[in-house]
Amino acid sequence: MIPKQVFSFREGNGRMKPLLGGKGANLAEMARIGLPVPPGFTITTEACLHYFEQGNFISDDLSRQIFEALQRLEKEKGQRYGDPARPLLVSVRSGSVTSMPGMMDTILNLGLNDETVEGLASLTNNPRFAYDCYRRLMQMFGNVVLDIDSRHFEHLLHQLKKELGAKHDQDITADGWIRLISDYKQVFILKSGRPFPQDVTEQLKLAVEAVFKSWHNPRAKVYRKINNIPDSQGTAVNIQSMVFGNMGDDSGTGVVFTRNPSTGENTFFGEYLINAQGEDVVAGVRTPLTIDALKTDMPEIYDQLFQAAKRLERHYKDMQDIEFTVEANKLYLLQTRSGKRTAQASLKIAVQMVYEGLLSKREALLRIEPSHLDQLLHRGIEESAVNDLLATGLPASPGAAVGQLVFDADTAVQWTNAGKAVILARPETTPEDIHGVLSAEGVLTSRGGMTSHAAVVARGMGKPCVCGCEEILIQAEEKMMTIGSRVLEEGEWITLDGASGRVISGSIPLREAEMTAELLEMLEWADEIRTLRVYANADNPQDAKIARKMGAQGIGLCRTEHMFFSPSRLPVMQRMILADTAEERREALQKLLPMQQSDFEGMFREMDGLPVTIRLLDPPLHEFLPNIAELQQRLNEQGIMEEEQSEIRKLIRTVRCLHETNPMLGQRGCRLGIVYPEIYDMQIEAIFKAASRCINEGSAVMPEIMIPLVGHENELKILRNLVDFVAEQVLGKEGMRTCPYKVGTMIEVPRAALTAKQIVAHADFFSFGTNDLTQLTFGYSRDDAEGKFLTHYTDLKVLPQNPFQVLDEDGVGQLIELAATAGRSVKPALKTGICGEHGGDKQSIAFCHRTGLDYVSCSPYRIPLARIAAAQAFIEHGSAGDKRQTESGEKALVGFAIERG
Ligand code: ADP
Ligand code: MG
Ligand code: MG
Repeated sequence: MIPKQVFSFREGNGRMKPLLGGKGANLAEMARIGLPVPPGFTITTEACLHYFEQGNFISDDLSRQIFEALQRLEKEKGQRYGDPARPLLVSVRSGSVTSMPGMMDTILNLGLNDETVEGLASLTNNPRFAYDCYRRLMQMFGNVVLDIDSRHFEHLLHQLKKELGAKHDQDITADGWIRLISDYKQVFILKSGRPFPQDVTEQLKLAVEAVFKSWHNPRAKVYRKINNIPDSQGTAVNIQSMVFGNMGDDSGTGVVFTRNPSTGENTFFGEYLINAQGEDVVAGVRTPLTIDALKTDMPEIYDQLFQAAKRLERHYKDMQDIEFTVEANKLYLLQTRSGKRTAQASLKIAVQMVYEGLLSKREALLRIEPSHLDQLLHRGIEESAVNDLLATGLPASPGAAVGQLVFDADTAVQWTNAGKAVILARPETTPEDIHGVLSAEGVLTSRGGMTSHAAVVARGMGKPCVCGCEEILIQAEEKMMTIGSRVLEEGEWITLDGASGRVISGSIPLREAEMTAELLEMLEWADEIRTLRVYANADNPQDAKIARKMGAQGIGLCRTEHMFFSPSRLPVMQRMILADTAEERREALQKLLPMQQSDFEGMFREMDGLPVTIRLLDPPLHEFLPNIAELQQRLNEQGIMEEEQSEIRKLIRTVRCLHETNPMLGQRGCRLGIVYPEIYDMQIEAIFKAASRCINEGSAVMPEIMIPLVGHENELKILRNLVDFVAEQVLGKEGMRTCPYKVGTMIEVPRAALTAKQIVAHADFFSFGTNDLTQLTFGYSRDDAEGKFLTHYTDLKVLPQNPFQVLDEDGVGQLIELAATAGRSVKPALKTGICGEHGGDKQSIAFCHRTGLDYVSCSPYRIPLARIAAAQAFIEHGSAGDKRQTESGEKALVGFAIERG
């Protein structure tokens, strides 16, 4: 049987997105519930994939189905495609399964040629309108189907306006358009070597093919990659009878959001243009009016639109982004979809919808895209530092951005790759600029409104954006912009405040964001549901303080080496490393001890009885010393004293001595601790002295000492004994009872995971160090991989994702699961968790939940994200396979520690 590849809007519904694409399914759904949608039909995504399989060929069968559907449409409309007496005009619109705003192509007004345009003119008694439609068709068709650069068309339009003294497109008369059309015909011949097709059937076929092919255009590919949309989905194609917003002053077109997509406020939000068609609003050709003005311009239409919008919102239980067109005082809806929104808006809307009874708390939690929360915890500007306001545009996407001005997307990418922060300034952005928007800190445009391409894309990406800043004249070709008499050139520093729309000269300091009431409420709901605990990676008391504010339930990783890098400590550390005798080394260590101790006291106080996991020194010692080239240079400097020279020579000798061919696999972590026990000795002493002092002050402490890089159980056995020994020395028998502590290891060497059953004998906890575990499992050094081949790998789909960002479940995940299971089979109360960047990634967090780990640990600012992702994992997967009573687990382990001590 031949599969059905074409569905009329009457045959589809909102649940058919995979087959009909989002746009097609929603058009069908709107028609189904009785909203005014111009009739049409949808060619399925399956037909698109089939087209690619056939080597880009429309099968006879598909072609037959299309023309049968077209005939039914003709009957319904009482018009005929290509008939000058009653011409049917259609749009051919792309429609992917997952919304990709503006990424693929749409063509309007198909069915016009030299004859039908005259028919349309006399039928409507409006030649200006008819020829306007025709020139729009030629421009879109030329660009989309024949790949003629739209600048050629725009240039002619611009020239015509100049000659006629017309300020706006609407000021051009029928004669003007006729002249332009004949110029456009020349462009077709010159630039594509073929005339504009007068055969309307050919127009339709070519248009459908162009939409299919647009699935593979570069900007759509980039968009899919950023948003993890599979290439294998394909796009549907919608063919819809035209309605005209460009018929005169009783017509228009616009976009509305049922709530404010920037702030989330429950207010109708949108823009429109009178006497305009299709993309005029989103393309930023003219800056549109806000939707409130429609209330006075067309009060009845406003009412109808408002009712329809609210109905759609209740129907879909989500904020909608709706396209509408008014043709001769009659309202039509042309698209509805879930509106893209900022993180702030997304939270506010979800929380409000719970209060409005539209959503349950769980549904509301699933509405939050955890990675967008990063944006919420973005920064604002330090108001007191603002003294040179350049201009104010529309506040299109909140957050503040500081960077150097660039005027094209390629430069934005180049400069960013060179480590610079840039602000991309464009007259307006098009989907071709997407790579530039992606790499810029923020985006500035001089044209286009709150629903322009730049605004929509920036909000989706969480980039600060100021739009429609008409005071600024952006001359991208000349790489400059002017505001009045002031000129700013490429490379100058500016600051954008996307929340207020301000463009400020210079680099303004930024301040950290606060948690909003909605975020706090949502986090409370998440905490009620989730079972996975969330810890923080924090290396100092300040970070620990932020971590608590963000809701950390403990510290999962405190990297002690960071404590030695401050200017006052580094020289002492270096003296320790350079020591000739054990005596000298001990002396230096005695100086470091009180410094470490005060760090730990600060951490314990901030955490106030919550677990604090402290990792003993991990990096190789040479990281604390200057490099050879630097030392050589210093040696060659003029006027160096004899004494200093010999110091430097000694340093050089030590650095040479410590040199390793492959430091990542060399003397570091527990290997260092076993060869130089006095370093770990000092660190352990500092931990317990700090603990003891805090306990004496009356606070509870819960130190968990973590031995890095263990690969063989004996390594952990030796160092655990050291910890227990020092603990007893510092605390005394009595103190041991008041200071329960744990000793555990980071599982980051594959051998440790494989021999977890043996290692667990000496461990109270396993913390999976997923950064190193990923490096060592793949055999990649992260810096080299990310700098060289990893992007190729993900581009070519050798790997589905960067395994340093999203945990590789099949490989690394298997090791984690194996080790956690083996460990627990010996010690049911073993505490398990991950530290490493994966702790702040939603997919990896879901994996940890499913695997039954006790916690994830991530950087302080990602904690809210992790709390929500952990709740989502619970909602989606239920409780983890072998849920253990973690509370009693905690207690059992304490008992274990005392026993060993
Ligand atoms: P995109 O996915 O880029 O939004 P659309 O297919 O939605 O592309 O169409 C682009 C513009 O053309 C939109 O403003 C839409 O409302 C308008 N449009 C599409 N089809 C029609 C039609 N049949 N009649 C009038 N306007 C249309
Ligand atoms: Mg659209
Ligand atoms: Mg490590």
